Amino acid sequence: MGSVVVAGSYNAGLTVYGDRLPTAGETILGRRFEAGPGGKGANQAIGIARLGGDVVFATKVGEDIFGAEARATLLAEGLPPHGILVGAGSTGVALILVDASGNNAISVAPGANAELAAADVLQSLGPELERADYIVCQLECPLDLALGLASWARAHGKQAVLNPAPAQSIHPESLGLFDVLTPNEGELAALANALGVEGGSVEVQARALVDCGVRTVVATLGDRGALRVSADGTRSFDAYAVNAVDTTGAGDAFTAGLVHALAAGKTMDYAVDEGCRAGAFCVTRRGVIDGLATAAELELAIPSRGAAPPDESRRTRTAG
Ligand code: ADP
Repeated sequence: MGSVVVAGSYNAGLTVYGDRLPTAGETILGRRFEAGPGGKGANQAIGIARLGGDVVFATKVGEDIFGAEARATLLAEGLPPHGILVGAGSTGVALILVDASGNNAISVAPGANAELAAADVLQSLGPELERADYIVCQLECPLDLALGLASWARAHGKQAVLNPAPAQSIHPESLGLFDVLTPNEGELAALANALGVEGGSVEVQARALVDCGVRTVVATLGDRGALRVSADGTRSFDAYAVNAVDTTGAGDAFTAGLVHALAAGKTMDYAVDEGCRAGAFCVTRRGVIDGLATAAELELAIPSRGAAPPDESRRTRTAG
């Protein structure tokens, strides 16, 4: 089994559920409060750990109560302590308001996440990075973190995976540093836009990124599954049919499932299917952390179809 380093954000999520969202200047009484760990980096690292992967998580938290909670949560998930760095800022916090229809308003204070730099990760995780096969980043920490680690990965024969979320544009010359990108449709459009591709199908947009040197773009399409675009062709993957109750975090579960399978030596197409399976499981649970399955939970709830040979009729279908 290959090993993975995830470098990225930890946010404490503080959620108030109420009948409606307050307007500017207004105070209203909500109904229920929930607090829990989050942040795309933490979600993806925990997702890989629960699937049984060999993973180290590099993140930066503050010296505050949320930072202590972060440490306890990450250690309980089996993630090693030396990846959890302490910065000068506060621990990242996401304040989330949800109304009775499930609409939300979210404000994130990145705090110490904004301080996480590639040099920190190289210094604190040197040996782990040396033996890692995959390095995974997202965009809740500064873009330079992802670019710095991807450059290091390229120079050291490692595979760099970027889940380019939240949506951001990236300079075309930097895109080619990534071996795998896992954007959703909005994130893909933002990346393609920066290349001058406005509109067009998911395949056209993803192809533009491949033309910049990205080896594989896996566009996630919600309940329509995923589209894999690489130099040698395009393949569409149906979503697993499930009863969705909360789609938050599906993209994090997808990236975790995909990277776990790649690190286990599976083919890219098998891994994309595993991403779909993990994403489908996630949407059947409320909250993100509860939607990150162990391998046993996943097998029980959503048996894999991934070992099946590619279906030629799906191979040429395009999506978007
Ligand atoms: P994000 O959460 O980043 O917006 P998506 O919504 O595209 O990402 O979801 C990621 C993956 O999770 C999809 O590619 C799909 O495989 C799976 N998924 C998402 N929503 C559903 C759903 N309603 N039913 C089944 N699978 C889903």
